[in-house]
Amino acid sequence: MKKKAILGGTFDPFHNGHLNIAYESIYKLGLDEIIFMPTGNPPHKSDKKVTNAELRYEMVMSGIKGESKFKVSKYEINKSSFSYTYETLKYFNSKEKNTEIYFITGADCLMELNLWKNVNEILQNCKFVVFNRPGYIYEDIMLQKKKVEEKYDSKIIFIDIPLLDISSTQIREKIKCHEEISYLVPKEVYGIIKANKLYI
Ligand code: ATP
Ligand code: MG
Repeated sequence: MKKKAILGGTFDPFHNGHLNIAYESIYKLGLDEIIFMPTGNPPHKSDKKVTNAELRYEMVMSGIKGESKFKVSKYEINKSSFSYTYETLKYFNSKEKNTEIYFITGADCLMELNLWKNVNEILQNCKFVVFNRPGYIYEDIMLQKKKVEEKYDSKIIFIDIPLLDISSTQIREKIKCHEEISYLVPKEVYGIIKANKLYI
């Protein structure tokens, strides 16, 4: 049985925090593959300005270059409607035979999971993995994990790793303030941000 994980995100921009949880997942869960899944038009972010999907895709693609276990999917980008995680997981579960599907997230996702559509189906169609994240208290994460597990009668995998205090929001803000961000993103991503004058 193969083990594959989906790591969904806006990736606006793709950064070293994303790479960190991807590598840790490979190592800790023994995964064969990680599929990075840039969102098309995320419902909960539709009020904010998001960089166009092609550029976000390009950033992920160039940022994972050279890592044979990392792939990028255009599945959500190519959908004309809003892409919901439960639909993506259902699709990959039926497409990938003899494969265990994992879904990788940071603690922020677990804390706001009640806002996601069809949580029950999400948890039925994957092994849900949560990484801790700066700004979240361990006890709060554990409490929420327990609540979700009991409500949906399922198990969540929590991975406690040293925190990388990086977020796309923080990078966009730093760029606006003309602060250095080259050490927070892969070199290729830095090049794309500069070439397209993103987040200025
Ligand atoms: P934004 O600030 O715009 O929300 P982000 O840094 O949270 O950006 P996303 O594309 O929203 O990046 O995140 C994709 C996934 O990666 C989410 O599950 C998120 O929780 C997780 N993630 C992002 N950065 C980290 C980090 N530094 N540590 C742990 N998980 C992270
Ligand atoms: Mg986020």
